[in-house]
Amino acid sequence: MTLAIVLAVALLHPPTLAVTGARVYVSPDRPPIDNATVVIVDSTITAVGPNAAIPAGATVLRCDGCVVMAGFWNSHVHFEPSQWSSTDPADSLTAHMRAMLTRWGFTTVVDLGSYIVNTNGLRHRIASGEISGPRILTAGGPIYPPHGIPFYVVNTLPPAYLPYLATPSTPDSAARFVDQSVEAGADVVKLFTGSWVKRGTVLPMPLPIAKRAVDEAHHLDRIVFSHCSNLTGARVAIDAGVDVIAHTLDDTRGVDSSLFRTMVDHHMALIPTLTLFADESGFDSVVHEVTIFHAMGGQLIFGTDVGFIHEFDTTREYQFLAQAGLGTVDILRMLTTAPAERLGAARTRGRVEPGLVGDLTILAADPATDPTAFARVRYTIRGGRVIFQM
Ligand SMILES: [Zn+2]
Repeated sequence: MTLAIVLAVALLHPPTLAVTGARVYVSPDRPPIDNATVVIVDSTITAVGPNAAIPAGATVLRCDGCVVMAGFWNSHVHFEPSQWSSTDPADSLTAHMRAMLTRWGFTTVVDLGSYIVNTNGLRHRIASGEISGPRILTAGGPIYPPHGIPFYVVNTLPPAYLPYLATPSTPDSAARFVDQSVEAGADVVKLFTGSWVKRGTVLPMPLPIAKRAVDEAHHLDRIVFSHCSNLTGARVAIDAGVDVIAHTLDDTRGVDSSLFRTMVDHHMALIPTLTLFADESGFDSVVHEVTIFHAMGGQLIFGTDVGFIHEFDTTREYQFLAQAGLGTVDILRMLTTAPAERLGAARTRGRVEPGLVGDLTILAADPATDPTAFARVRYTIRGGRVIFQM
C-alpha cells in the first residue's frame, strides 16, 4: 500500500480503544460503575463494565481515577467568520478547536448562527479527519425580524455581510429562507423572536413570520431555536411553536412563573447561557429563571454562546448552574441525554452503552462533590479517536 492509502485507511478506521480503570457514568439515571473498562471498536462502543474483555491489539488508555461520561454537547456556540476561516491551515484550526471546544470535553456542538458555507467547510475537514474537532450541527444564518438586526451584530459584522442577513418581511419569504438554509445544509433553524435593536429596546418578530418559519422548519424535520430577550419575544416563540429557547431572558421585566409553566406545558427546552449575563445587573433574577424552569420539570440543555463570548473556560457556567440549584445528575443530563434526545440522536449518543457511538468525555475528578470538575477534562474522544488529551 502507498502511504496515502495507509493514511486514508487509518483515518477511516479509528484504532480499537480500551479505556481501563475508570469510574463510568453510563447515563445520568444510573449509579456509576467503578473500575470499569470501556471498549470502542470501529467508532462504536462494544463493551462497558468491570469485566469487559480488551480485544487483542487494542490501544489501552490506562485511566485510574478518571471519570468517564458520554461525550458532552455544547448546544449554543458560534463559528463567527471573523474568527474562523475554513481555509486556514489544519494545525491552526485544530488548535483553535482545542482552545474553544475539545479542551472542554465537547464532542458535539450546535452552532446557532454563522456563515454556513464557511461552517460547512470546517465540518467537512473535521469529518475527513484532517482537523481534530467536534461534530458540528449548524443553523447557518439566523432569521431576524424585519429591520431587526441586533445592534451588537451591526457593530461587529463587516458591513459587506449585512445585506446577506435574513430579515424576511413576509411569512412566505421566511419560509423560503428556511428552505434555502436547509438546502445549504442547516440542521436546525434559529430565529430572533426578540432582537436587541438598540440598548434598552427589544424588537419582536411579527408572529405570522415566526410561525411560518417554524412550520416550514418542522415540515423539513428541523427543530427551531429562538433568541427571545424579553417577555414579548418569549411569547412570540411560544405561540410560533419554537422548540428551544437559546438563552434565559436577560430582560426579566414582567417575567413570572406562569411564563415558564407555559414553556414547560409546550415541551420547550431552555439553554441557560448564564455566563453570558454574569456581569450584568439583575443577574440573580436571570439565575432564578433557571431555578424555576428546572423545578417545574422543564428540559434544560447545556450551552454557553462561546464564539460570541470569548470565555472558553466552562468552569463558571457549572458554578452558576449549581447556584441555580442543579445537581451533578441534572448537569450531566444537560450535557448528554437531553441534547441527544432534542436533536434526534437518543439512539446513537448521550450514554456510554454498547451499540452507541464512541463519544466520551473523560474527567480528572468526579463532579459529584464539585461541579467545576465537569471542566477538568483529561481526554475528549470522538468516534473512538482521541481529539484532545491533557
Ligand atoms: Zn448565540
